[in-house]
Amino acid sequence: MEHTYFDYAATTPVDPEVLESMLPWFNGEFGNPSSTHWYGQKADAAVENARGEIADILGCSPSEITFTSGGSESDNLALRGTVFAQKRKQGATRILISPVEHDAVLKTARQLEREYRFTVEYIPVLPNGIVDLEKLDHMLTSDVALVSTIYGNNEIGTINPIHNIAMCCKAKGVPFHTDAVQALGYCAITTADEFDLLSAGAHKFYGPKGVGFLYKRQSIELLPMQTGGAQERNIRAGTQNVPYIVGMATALKLSRKRFLEYQALYLGLRDEIIRLITISIPNAILTGDLVSRLSNHASFIFPGVDGNRLVMALDMAGFCVSSGSACKTGNPEPSEVLLALGYSQGNARSSIRITVGRSTTMDDVHKLTDAIFSCLEKIH
Ligand SMILES: *Cc1c(COP(=O)(O)O)cnc(C)c1O
Repeated sequence: MEHTYFDYAATTPVDPEVLESMLPWFNGEFGNPSSTHWYGQKADAAVENARGEIADILGCSPSEITFTSGGSESDNLALRGTVFAQKRKQGATRILISPVEHDAVLKTARQLEREYRFTVEYIPVLPNGIVDLEKLDHMLTSDVALVSTIYGNNEIGTINPIHNIAMCCKAKGVPFHTDAVQALGYCAITTADEFDLLSAGAHKFYGPKGVGFLYKRQSIELLPMQTGGAQERNIRAGTQNVPYIVGMATALKLSRKRFLEYQALYLGLRDEIIRLITISIPNAILTGDLVSRLSNHASFIFPGVDGNRLVMALDMAGFCVSSGSACKTGNPEPSEVLLALGYSQGNARSSIRITVGRSTTMDDVHKLTDAIFSCLEKIH
């Protein structure tokens, strides 16, 4: 049976144009960017060209972009690298994060607390998942090593007021990192937001899996987490993944080139899903914020319904959705994000996430919502 994909927040397919741009760099132009000779120079030029394209889009210097193996590594490098440098520099040991972060931030912060004598404090968030700026301001003092808040939430779709959070941190001289892995394909992000560090992963914006980057403002000190060769200006050792880096730059360029066209498509589809579900299922709860929300993202709680059972029933009916973040598939634990927002244990097990993409049609949306209504009747 054909399956219709509604899980673009988990990953996206590689755009054909992106794949095309990657192919020459696998075998024809296979050089090591660190080699001095002709082959090396060609590969190095491709990596530096990709770095320049990404920097142009973000509005920063190419030297502020570090290539990594993906969103998780970028988050790890941002958190660990910054807090170790801040501790060495001024003894700062407090880490402030929101309680609705991706596990790549949450579990990294918790390990830093458990094993490395940092303390983690959670910045209160409003019921829609948006950081409470006033409370953050009260928590911020110069002994904070790093603040990290998610840009666009993978589970509930909420977009944080990143510029305001950044200004709050800047006023106290505290480095500010944002995990923009989910948001980068859906928000026209630039360094005008004033964050100090930003994580990205290519497979969330129609690039390949296993490649990402970290933006780091020049003035922010970072202790390398992967040591070895002098690649990436000594911030991240290891021979660069040339074809994937080229593909990531192509993917980001494409997503910006057709930004308005895609936004219009996503918004129409997303709002139709929200409209149909909220009128047909009166007790359905839209999680996250209705307005400050990723353009392709709809997430709900259906009280009394087992979210995982619904996901499985929909899969049998030919529709791929998720019950929260992809890492939790098959895990009957309630969603930590929903618990942090104050939902009950039961409601935190009753969520589903529907995310649309470039090839989703209105017809797909209507078939999906019909399937949801009939599955809900069956599994009740
Ligand atoms: C997908 C995702 C990550 C992890 O990125 P990978 O490239 O899969 O390692 C981190 N944070 C958020 C918000 C994500 O959506």
